[in-house]
Amino acid sequence: ETPLLEVRELRTSFSVRGGVLGREVARVRAVDGVSFEVKAGETLGLVGESGCGKSTLGRTLLRLVDPSSGSIRFDGRNITELSQRELRPLRRQMQMIFQDPYSSLNPRMRVGEIIGEPFAIHGLASGAERQRQVAALMERCGLRPDMADRYPHEFSGGQRQRIGIARALAVEPKLVVADEPISALDVSIQAQILNLLLDLQEERGLTYVFISHDLNAVEFIADRVAVMYLGRLVELAPSRSLYADPRHPYTRALLSAVPSIDPSKRRDRVVLEGDVPSPIAPPPGCSFHPRCPDAGERCTRECPELSQADDGHGVACFLHTPGGTGAKLRVVAA
Ligand code: SF4
Ligand code: MG
Repeated sequence: ETPLLEVRELRTSFSVRGGVLGREVARVRAVDGVSFEVKAGETLGLVGESGCGKSTLGRTLLRLVDPSSGSIRFDGRNITELSQRELRPLRRQMQMIFQDPYSSLNPRMRVGEIIGEPFAIHGLASGAERQRQVAALMERCGLRPDMADRYPHEFSGGQRQRIGIARALAVEPKLVVADEPISALDVSIQAQILNLLLDLQEERGLTYVFISHDLNAVEFIADRVAVMYLGRLVELAPSRSLYADPRHPYTRALLSAVPSIDPSKRRDRVVLEGDVPSPIAPPPGCSFHPRCPDAGERCTRECPELSQADDGHGVACFLHTPGGTGAKLRVVAA
């Protein structure tokens, strides 16, 4: 069975310009050699601290940002080098849900028009048929259809996210990339939106890439989880396996910071030293080594690859490879 999405050695970089001539002074490697697959109907969670490249990766998958190298196959087709014009017919199959629904909704359009716009863009249902479909979508997403004539500011944060979801689903996509879809919402509303996403997935066979820094939300919604650090995937595993047995020191540290009410799941707190280094000049070797409690000498020289384990639980760390990390680095207080 061909995966819906197949990503190989994907890289996305941006130039940083400076000086009076605006010359490129540096490159940020936001996505730095990422490979993974997503099966149809599956949810892949993508986690990591802010600035790790998750949003850029999400946008690159949908070709909203152009990759610098590597490949993206969508539904068996290589979309890496398609022009924007060639991409147009595929656009309806790949949609995005944003963190802040308000800033992604045109404030001067009525909600019915916002949700109906994708039909217009893709030359689908018009007139009364479009109105009927918009009403059905609103109802399905928990919005009263008689509110179609109102403007986005008349809705609450949770309702706006429902509008964003209805709009994304209007043209029946196969793949939805949701970038922090609940992090701007009140905690009381978050579970409602997660449940709506799950119900819609089951009804419509949707495939999700769910980007979040909220590890509890990801555990709830994702089938598999990818952990990102400085543009690379450091761990990729079935959700159950990742949460029960995190193998990368970074994943362990992230999970140890998540409060758990289940005492059997309580973990010793691992506190990471220092901040995420700048992606302009990532550290050599394993880019996590300056913050890693387990770093050894080898980690300062070599960059570990994500392993392909039989149980589908891959990790990019020398603790889990033959040869190990080499002599442990002495931690010197700054
Ligand atoms: Fe830490 Fe070394 Fe593993 Fe990197 S490779 S996570 S520095 S132990
Ligand atoms: Mg982001």
